[in-house]
Amino acid sequence: MPFDKETLISMNPATEEELGRIEVDSTEQIIEKVERAHKAQKSWARLSIEERIKHLEPLEDLLMENCERLSELMTKEQGKPLFMSIGEVKACAKSLKGEFESIEKALQVEEKVNGSDHSKIIYDPLGVVVSITPWNFPILMPHWHIIPAMLAGNAVIIKPSEETTITAIEYLKLIQSLLPEDVLQYVVGDGRQGQELIDQNIQLTVFTGSRDVGSKIMEQSSAQLKRVILELGGKDPLVVLPSADLEAAVSFAVQNSFRNCGQVCVSTERILVHEKVFDEFLAAFKERSEKLKIGNGLDKDVNLGPMIHKKQKEKVLDQVKDAVAKGAEIYFGSLDDDANYVRPIALLKVDEHMEIRDGETFGPVVYIDKFKEPEEAVTSINQSKYGLGAAIFGDEKESMEIARKLETGMVGINRGVSGVKDTPWVGAKQSGFGFHHSAQGHRQFTQTRVITVKKEE
Ligand code: NAD
Repeated sequence: MPFDKETLISMNPATEEELGRIEVDSTEQIIEKVERAHKAQKSWARLSIEERIKHLEPLEDLLMENCERLSELMTKEQGKPLFMSIGEVKACAKSLKGEFESIEKALQVEEKVNGSDHSKIIYDPLGVVVSITPWNFPILMPHWHIIPAMLAGNAVIIKPSEETTITAIEYLKLIQSLLPEDVLQYVVGDGRQGQELIDQNIQLTVFTGSRDVGSKIMEQSSAQLKRVILELGGKDPLVVLPSADLEAAVSFAVQNSFRNCGQVCVSTERILVHEKVFDEFLAAFKERSEKLKIGNGLDKDVNLGPMIHKKQKEKVLDQVKDAVAKGAEIYFGSLDDDANYVRPIALLKVDEHMEIRDGETFGPVVYIDKFKEPEEAVTSINQSKYGLGAAIFGDEKESMEIARKLETGMVGINRGVSGVKDTPWVGAKQSGFGFHHSAQGHRQFTQTRVITVKKEE
C-alpha cells in the first residue's frame, strides 16, 4: 500500500488504479480516540447484554441492504471475485442472530454452591479492546473481532489493514450508526499505527494476521501483561487416503488451494497423497486446476482474482524460485503472469531445504508429496511449526485415527476445517494463541471474576 506523506492510497489490485485516499491517524488522534473510548465504555458497560444486542439487531438488515455496494468495493480493493465478496457480506449478516444467542449464553452469570458457600462467576468487560485485522477478508475478520468484543461491554478501536481500509470503513460506519458515540472507532494506518494503539491504555489486543506480527504484538504487550488473542498463519495439509472419494478430494483440493488466490489462512498449501492413488489424483488435479479462469474479480465467470499487490506476488514467486533452484519440479503453472496475477502452481519434489516446505506461502501455490504409510504423513505434518488446520479425505474411521494424531487446532474429514455453530476457530502451535467463537472464544473478551458469599444453611 503506497503512502503519500500521511495519506494512505488505496489501490485496485486488478487494474492498478487508485481507489481513494484517506488521512492516516496521528499519535495525538490515537491518544484522543483511546480516551474517548474509555469514556464511552463506562455507559456502554452499564447496559445489559440484551440492551447491547438490541442496538446491533438491525445490522443484519443493514448489511443485506448494503450488500451490493460493499461487495463491489471489496472486490475492487481486495481483488477476490464478486461472488466471494457477496458471500462474505451475507455470511456476516446471516450469522448474526446465532452469534447474539451464543454470546448472550456464554456471558451469563453462573452459580456454584458448596454447603453454605455460594459463588458467582461473572464475565465483566475488560475496558478498551484494540482490534487489528488483515486484508484477506476485509469485512469478515473485523466482524469476528468487534461483535463479541462490543457485546461483552467493551469499547473497540479497530485498525483495519492498510490494504483494505476503505471497505472496512464502509462496513464500520454501518455499525457506528447503531451505537452510542465512540463505542466503536477506527484508526487509519499500517503497522506503525497498530503499535501506537497497543502502547496506549488498552486492555486487550485481538489480532488476526501473520505469525511474525503476532509475535511482535505479544512481545509489545508483555511488559504490562496486556491480554492478547492471536489468530495467525498456517501451512495447512490435505491428506488423501486410498479409500477417498477421489472426485471429492480433487474438487476440495482445487477449491481450497486456490480460492481467493490462495490468500486464506486455511488454504491447502501441501497435499499428501497415498501412493496407490497418487497418479490418478495428480492428473485430475492438474486438469481441474488449469480450467480455473483468472481475471478481474468484477468480470463474470472469473474464479480467481489478482494477488493483493506486487510485493505479495514477489514473495510467493520467490518461494517457488527458491524451491526450483533446490531441485523442486513445477508440475503445472508458470512464473510469468502479468501485473498482479499468478495462475495456480503445483510443485513436486519439495524437501526440507526449501523455504516453501514450512513457510506460509499465502498464494496459489501447493506442493504434492506421496506417502506409503499414514504414519509417514502424520510425522511429516507434525514437523511444522504451524498447526492451524488440516483436511483428510478417506474412510471415516481411518481418517479419525489420523486426525487424533495431528497437531493442528482444526481438522476436517471429507470437508474443510470450519466446525459447526458454537465450535471454536482455533490454531495450535504457532498458528494461534486463543480462539474465536464458542463460549471459550467469547469469554476471552471479558475479565472473569468470582464472588463468594457465606449464607446460612
Ligand atoms: P500482517 O500480519 O502483515 O498484518 C496484519 C495487520 O497487522 C495489518 O492491519 C497491519 O497493518 C498490522 N500490523 C503490522 N505490523 C504491526 C505491528 N508491529 N503492530 C501492530 N500491528 C501491526 O498480515 P496480512 O498480510 O494483513 O494478512 C495475512 C496473514 O493473516 C496470513 O499470515 C494469514 O494466515 C493470516 N490470517 C489468519 C487468520 C486466522 O484465522 N488464523 C485469518 C486470516 C488471515
